[in-house]
Amino acid sequence: MIRVLDPETIGQIAAGEVIERPLSVVKELVENALDADATRIAVRVRGGGLIEIEVADDGAGIAPDDLLLAVRRHATSKIANAAGLTHVDTLGFRGEGLASIAAVARLTIVSRTADADVASAIDAHAEEIGEPRPFAGPPGTRVVVRELFANVPVRREYLRSPSAEFARIAAWLATLALAYPQVGFTLEHDGKQTFAFAPDDDLAPRLRQVFGATSAPMVPVRGDDARAAVSGWVSSPGDDRADRRSQILFVNGRLLRSTLLSGAWSAAYRTFAMVGRYPYGVLYLSVPPSEVDPNVHPTKSDVRLRHGDRVVAVVKGAIASALRRGAAERLERAISFAPPLRESGSNGAASVDWAEPLLPAGGAHDAEKKTLRVLAQVDRTFILASDGDAVVLIDQHAAHERIVFEQLTANARAHAAAEPLLIPHTFEVRPEEADKLEATLDALAAGGLHVERFGENAYRVTATPARLVHAGRTRPFDVAEFIECLGDEVRGLDADQRVWASLACHSVVRAHERLEYPEMTALVERLQRCENPMHCPHGRPTIVRLEAAQIARLFKRV
Ligand code: ADP
Ligand code: MG
Repeated sequence: MIRVLDPETIGQIAAGEVIERPLSVVKELVENALDADATRIAVRVRGGGLIEIEVADDGAGIAPDDLLLAVRRHATSKIANAAGLTHVDTLGFRGEGLASIAAVARLTIVSRTADADVASAIDAHAEEIGEPRPFAGPPGTRVVVRELFANVPVRREYLRSPSAEFARIAAWLATLALAYPQVGFTLEHDGKQTFAFAPDDDLAPRLRQVFGATSAPMVPVRGDDARAAVSGWVSSPGDDRADRRSQILFVNGRLLRSTLLSGAWSAAYRTFAMVGRYPYGVLYLSVPPSEVDPNVHPTKSDVRLRHGDRVVAVVKGAIASALRRGAAERLERAISFAPPLRESGSNGAASVDWAEPLLPAGGAHDAEKKTLRVLAQVDRTFILASDGDAVVLIDQHAAHERIVFEQLTANARAHAAAEPLLIPHTFEVRPEEADKLEATLDALAAGGLHVERFGENAYRVTATPARLVHAGRTRPFDVAEFIECLGDEVRGLDADQRVWASLACHSVVRAHERLEYPEMTALVERLQRCENPMHCPHGRPTIVRLEAAQIARLFKRV
């Protein structure tokens, strides 16, 4: 039942809908169709929306008696009074959508409820509202909007080309479709179909439409606590974008922006993603309707959440654990050690026989798993390997950094004992270095490296991390190099982690350093045991995998 809201309620609703461009019309009409529980929504656009927009749905329909009210301002079936504003669970509730459209275009509604034998139609344009009349039509609602802005030429001046206006419509509709998988959506422009998503299909075609072909599979996210649940799909670390525009958020089915949650999303990528790059994907947050204020100004969509901190924690936790899982799975594909090469038969090249003792015991490994064989060092910087399906390249420095960084973090977490040096290593620093070093001493000690002041501008290392693995190499503590690393910006790491990241960076194998085969094998094997093996603490990738299919493309075989 549609009723006109009382003036008091109207006063509490944030300023009304503004129809600024064809997309605004499509939004109002599609949201109405979703509110009417449609399972199929067909959008047809002509001339970028300026000639005609038609949205047809198979939803609940509007009773003939209600048609007149539907196009009146502040008439809605979705809330009855101001109290209703605190638990809105529909996309619309202001009762202004259809009236605002009629004010700037010719509007025709044809609608039929499930129990009616025939549909009814009504026309509205500016102040003129026609009489409802019987009309042929299936159950559901079809709204046709023609001559948009014909009576407000100034609005037309702000519009882009028809194809640009249509592009906005297509991007918005495909994005919205991500949150309504049970609903089929079709979109057509000038008689040509742009997309058709079947109801209840899997999300893949919709994800592809919105994000394009992605370079790595997206990672599913799921998490909840007593009051908030989050799910969704996020990009793999490294497969990211230059801006936040592809971070899509639905709160209770409503497409919104949230600075707070975007922040949580990025924070979850700490140490996974490159500095200055943004993950992309779609998150669905559900919270009790009373926790969100949907009554924000229609053009400002930054959502306000009660208990925002708790929601942030849920979102961050869910994404971080999904990424860890994803990283482990990708590593599983990228690197898995196989039984000694001899088992693989004829292709046991003589050159690798001596590596056998370095490989883990064969029994521990699934015979199905691909053998990753270290083949060579390239440019004294990269480790070249292959598992028969792909060529795998490992950045030796980044990989070792990741290993040492995790070791230091683990030491600190476990309060691991440091190993005292029999003869402390003494070094001098310049005064400006002393300040920087001084600030890191506690964090270094937590990681297991004990450094103390020893005179004016001198320090000494009294203990080193006990379990620090160096792939067979140790280095003297080079403070200048260490402090230089400290200056690297590493977003998302806390102060202690930054110290460990630079300690890791300075104490590991560098690029342009020759590694022996056993060193390479050991490095790769240790990388495998890392929690986040795919990236160094600064976010750069450690492993790049070139699949056979990609190689075939390089040779123009496909
Ligand atoms: P609101 O969506 O804020 O209620 P609208 O002006 O968009 O305001 O719509 C007014 C009313 O018309 C809605 O409350 C609903 O009852 C009815 N209505 C509009 N579109 C549809 C539709 N596609 N199917 C069923 N009912 C609709
Ligand atoms: Mg509406």
